[in-house]
Amino acid sequence: MKKRLIGILLFLLWSATSAMGADLRAGAAKAAITPDVKAGSVYMAGFGNNRVATGVHDDLYVRCLALGVGQQTLAMCSVDLIGLFYDDVLKIREKVKAQAPELAHLIVASTHVHEGPDTMGLWGPTPFQSGMDEHYMDWLDERIATTAAQAIHAMQNARLTLARDDHPLLALLQSDGRPPYVKDPYLFVMRLDAPGGAPIATLINWSDHPETLGGKNTEITADYPHWLCQYVEDHGGGTAVFFNGSIGGLLSTLGNDVALQDPETGEVARDDTWRKAELVGNALGMLVERALKSGEVVEPDSVVIRKAVVYPPMHNDHFRVGGAFGIYKGRKSLFTDDKPVATIAEKEFPGYGKLKYATGQDVQTELDYVAFRSQGKIVAEIATVPGEIYPELVNGGVTRFPGADFPDAPFEPAIREHLKSRYQFIFGLANDELGYIIPKAEWDDQPPWLLNRKNRWYGEINSAGPDIAGAVTHGLVNLIEGK
Ligand SMILES: [Zn+2]
Repeated sequence: MKKRLIGILLFLLWSATSAMGADLRAGAAKAAITPDVKAGSVYMAGFGNNRVATGVHDDLYVRCLALGVGQQTLAMCSVDLIGLFYDDVLKIREKVKAQAPELAHLIVASTHVHEGPDTMGLWGPTPFQSGMDEHYMDWLDERIATTAAQAIHAMQNARLTLARDDHPLLALLQSDGRPPYVKDPYLFVMRLDAPGGAPIATLINWSDHPETLGGKNTEITADYPHWLCQYVEDHGGGTAVFFNGSIGGLLSTLGNDVALQDPETGEVARDDTWRKAELVGNALGMLVERALKSGEVVEPDSVVIRKAVVYPPMHNDHFRVGGAFGIYKGRKSLFTDDKPVATIAEKEFPGYGKLKYATGQDVQTELDYVAFRSQGKIVAEIATVPGEIYPELVNGGVTRFPGADFPDAPFEPAIREHLKSRYQFIFGLANDELGYIIPKAEWDDQPPWLLNRKNRWYGEINSAGPDIAGAVTHGLVNLIEGK
């Protein structure tokens, strides 16, 4: 792993300080990205294969916030999608730069909604047929880029309020599917207002799988983020932009642990219902309002943006075979020695027979660290994670259990221990989606299973491998420490 880290390409991008005093500008924009379910089969992403959409309950959105600090322009877009690969993000960045050359950096993150179109190819009619519609993907990339440019062009002088909260209700909105039962319940909020007081945007960062409607629903919806954003916008928050956080492990709205009483019926709202998604979104909206009551106005005068392109090893044969069958439609090339490898070989897979197999060893992905500074002091930070990170890698608490495949694996660093400010935004599924990011010491792909359970724990099947966690956490720590 050490060797890999030396291989990290570190781009110390931009660090500039404005000449005098506060100089913050902000703009926001949003646009619907709902696919046309009548034009053809829209395969819904997130549960099993071949779930075809039959209607639209509420529109999916791209929501962008652009911030100008000193001479730097940073744009951050959240999309109501299961995940977007790095290939699409690179394309989108080029398109934004053509429309807004002042852009220094763009982050695109998915909310990971399980009730939208397949934008990763994994949920087509069968595991070997893509569920991705290329016409939709082209339109989507264009639409995200145009919305990001609109947010940049809408920038005006702004005042920033930062807030965080750890109200006990936040953890009660998350079920946790796997030991150690570490959650990431922290809520972080960035609120932007024009100097006269008119709201521009409210950025919300919190962690939970948007899958309340379950695997039987066939109506497109943004799930709880729909009600969260509606609540925040209806209560004078400007454009709401929600970024999901550390949702591996698996933090979810599903299950009896997340028990919200419906005030209209007096009953606990059940899984797979619109009502439960609405109650989760509204509860979170109220907690955002509550957090802002003790918000802190800060005046950032500079921003540091650091980015690393990393090549962690890929160990998941399902992902590899899917790629060889073309389900990613040309995305997610595999790399060896940091160079793309297009070679496909045939290999015997137990239970499947001979299958095509992409031979490259590594995946290419990106990590970002953004620090907002005021008079030399870091006042807020954003760390981006290219997948679904287990909360113990963020908050600490990685645990050794009997049955682990790598009982002596060193613990990865906990990201928050290295962050420098009170406002620690962690954007999950940002710029890429590599699946679960699991501590190596907890990796369990071979029996006996952790804690001698009878059957396997859920997680590894949707992870690129046991070394992703080390590459992501060490890579981020290096960026944070400026190494
Ligand atoms: Zn997930």
